[in-house]
Amino acid sequence: MSFKPANSIQDLQYFGEFGGVNPSISDSSTYTFLSAKTMFDTFEGNADGCYLYSRHSSPSNLYLGEALAAMEHTETANVSASGMGAITPVIMQLCGSGDHIVSSRTIYGGTYAFLKNFTPKFNIETSFVDITKLELVEAQITENTKIIYCESVSNPLLEVADIKGLATLAKKYDLKLVVDNTFSPLSISPAVLGADVVIHSLTKFINGSSDTVGGVVCGSQNFINALRDVNSGASMLLGATMDSLRAASVLKNLRTLHIRMQQHSKNAMFLAEKFENDGLKTVYPGLKSHPSHGLFTSMMHPEYGYGGMLTIDVGSLDKANALMELMQHKNLGYLAVSLGFYKTLFSSPGSSTSSEIPEEEQKTMGLSDGLIRLSIGLDADIERSYFRMRQCMETLGVL
Ligand SMILES: *Cc1c(COP(=O)(O)O)cnc(C)c1O
Repeated sequence: MSFKPANSIQDLQYFGEFGGVNPSISDSSTYTFLSAKTMFDTFEGNADGCYLYSRHSSPSNLYLGEALAAMEHTETANVSASGMGAITPVIMQLCGSGDHIVSSRTIYGGTYAFLKNFTPKFNIETSFVDITKLELVEAQITENTKIIYCESVSNPLLEVADIKGLATLAKKYDLKLVVDNTFSPLSISPAVLGADVVIHSLTKFINGSSDTVGGVVCGSQNFINALRDVNSGASMLLGATMDSLRAASVLKNLRTLHIRMQQHSKNAMFLAEKFENDGLKTVYPGLKSHPSHGLFTSMMHPEYGYGGMLTIDVGSLDKANALMELMQHKNLGYLAVSLGFYKTLFSSPGSSTSSEIPEEEQKTMGLSDGLIRLSIGLDADIERSYFRMRQCMETLGVL
C-alpha cells in the first residue's frame, strides 16, 4: 500500500499565531464579527475561515480533525467529546424510523447497548451477526437496511472484519459501511479498503495517556457537513463537542502514535508468542493460530504490527480475578478497563466492558468467564515483564 498514514499526519503543518510550532489554542466559546452580514454568512456556513460558536467548530478541533482525516485517508473528519459521541450521531444521521442495521455481534459494549436497547425506541432495528462470515451478513440485509456496522478488530474477542468484502456488499446493496477502527489505528486503514465512515474512540491508543475521553468520525466532506448541519446534523444537535484545550492536547499526543503503536505491537507479539508456547489459550491477530491472521496480514500496514490487544483464557472468573489482582500487586499493569496506555491494562470483559451483553449471548459469542483482555503497554523490557507475569501464573496454578 503506497498510502502511509503516519507520513500524512506528519506532513500537515500548523503554526501558532506567534510562530509557535504548535497551533494556538482558541480558548473561546464565541467569536466577534466586524459586520453583521459576515456573522449571518458564517451561521449559514458560507464564510470560510470564520468561526461563530465553538459547538459548531473551533480552530483546535478542526486541526485535530484534519490530522485524523489525513491518517485515515478520508476527505475530512469531525472530532467529538467521546467515542460514543462519534458513534451515536453517525447512526442517528444515517438511519430513521423503519430502518435497519446489520452489525457485528462482537462490538464495544456501549455500542451494543445503543443498538440493542436505545435505537429500537426510534424504530431502528439491528441484526447482530458473526461478521467474519460474509454470507451471514448478506443474508441479514433487507430492503430497509442502511448500515453495515463493525469494528476492524473487535472488542473484546479480536475478530477481524474483512473490510474489502464488506465494502463490496455495502456497494451492492447501496448501504454505508461504518467501521470503528479504535483497536488498530495506523495498522489498518478502513477507508482505503472501502469503508464509507471510519470512527475512533480517541480515548484509547490515539491519545494514549488515559487522561481524557474523545472521539472522531472520518468520512466524506458531504457526510461530515451533514453531521455538522445546524438545522439537521446529529453531531451538531446532539452536542457532544470536544473542548478546544483537549483537542490541542490530543493532537500533540497523535504526533507520537506511530512510535507507540510499534512498541505496543512489538510487546504484544512477544507476549502472545510466549503465552501460546506456555500452553495458554491466547488470541492475538499476529499469531498464526488466529483464524483471521491471513486476513489481517493482507489488510495491514506492516510497520505498525498487529496491535497492542490480546486475550488469554485462564479457565474461570475466579482465576482471572486472582491473576489480575496479583499482576497489579506486582506492578505489571493495572486492573482497569480501557486501553492504549503506556502501562499494561487488564480486565475481564464478561463482568466489565461487555457486561451490557446478556450472559447467554456472551456464551454463543465465545466470551468465556476466564477471559482476560490485555492492552499491552510500552514496557521497555518486555522479557522482564513476561518472566514476572509467568511467575504470577505459576503461583496461582494457571500455568
Ligand atoms: C472505548 C471504545 C468506544 C467508546 O469510546 P468512548 O471514548 O469511551 O466513548 C467505542 N469503540 C471501541 C472499540 C472502544 O474501545
